[in-house]
Amino acid sequence: MAEWKLVIHGGAGVIERERLTAAADGAIRESLGRALEAGSATLAAGGSALDAVERTACLLEDDPHFNAGRGSVFTYQGSNEMDAAIMDGRDRSAGAVAGVTATRNPVSLARAVMERSPHVFLAREGADAFSREQGLEQAGPEWFATAERRRQLEMMLQSEDYFDAELKYGTIGAVAVDARGHVAAATSTGGLTGKRWARIGDTPVIGAGTYADDRAGAVSATGAGEYFIRAGVAHEICARIRLLGEGAQQAADAVIAEIGALGGSGGIILVTPAGDAIFSFNTPGMYRGLASASGRKVAIYADEGAL
Ligand code: ASP
Repeated sequence: MAEWKLVIHGGAGVIERERLTAAADGAIRESLGRALEAGSATLAAGGSALDAVERTACLLEDDPHFNAGRGSVFTYQGSNEMDAAIMDGRDRSAGAVAGVTATRNPVSLARAVMERSPHVFLAREGADAFSREQGLEQAGPEWFATAERRRQLEMMLQSEDYFDAELKYGTIGAVAVDARGHVAAATSTGGLTGKRWARIGDTPVIGAGTYADDRAGAVSATGAGEYFIRAGVAHEICARIRLLGEGAQQAADAVIAEIGALGGSGGIILVTPAGDAIFSFNTPGMYRGLASASGRKVAIYADEGAL
């Protein structure tokens, strides 16, 4: 039996000590810890990486601290449109949704697309209709909307700073390797504050924000999605491991460096079937955490070191 591991993120960005109050810092660490605890329970009981990443992602989606599910950022028009994806490293089956508005847990809708439709990627009204047909739990706009995210939209509309890399990041992700050595990845987001024109980021794009392949590893990304799509980040990291034989950290750092060279920022989390569990980011901080049979650790700032 392999050793199970779970790594999570809650977004990367300009997350610095002087920007977070002690209360917010503590609350976020607690939220990350709770999510790790739930996913760990699945893995410790012999559950699959796929079940663990879905369960963990659902908890983070329900938590208003993060930009996914409840607490998603607002679009320019003042609505919440969410993107999510999930992928199973055993056979590279995958499901994704973009611009969904009424499913309480978009990651579970992505899983339903993977398991109960012949498709990989559904969008907007069609994806919302599929969700109702499949009997997934629905939620009204008031469930997703929070006062803090509305304030952020208002600030952005005033500044007309369309693409911002501030604290509004908060996309969530989970990657896991289970006791059988299988990997899975899940990512979920509200996207960018003030997004327009049905903009879709990297999160639900298989190979960009989310990828899992038992021959390499499972990756979930967060950051400036446009750059992550252009670099095919999650697939590129797995391809480097599989085809070049690079180590997990080396492959991840190389692709994040490419993002930086293009002018983008953000980060990724990665596990491999061999048990590597790492992160890489080029922002001042990334909400992140690791759980294994030997314990749990959460971190926020760059200087907090390895997980
Ligand atoms: N990557 C997400 C997007 O571009 C945003 C984020 O990670 O905060 O939609």
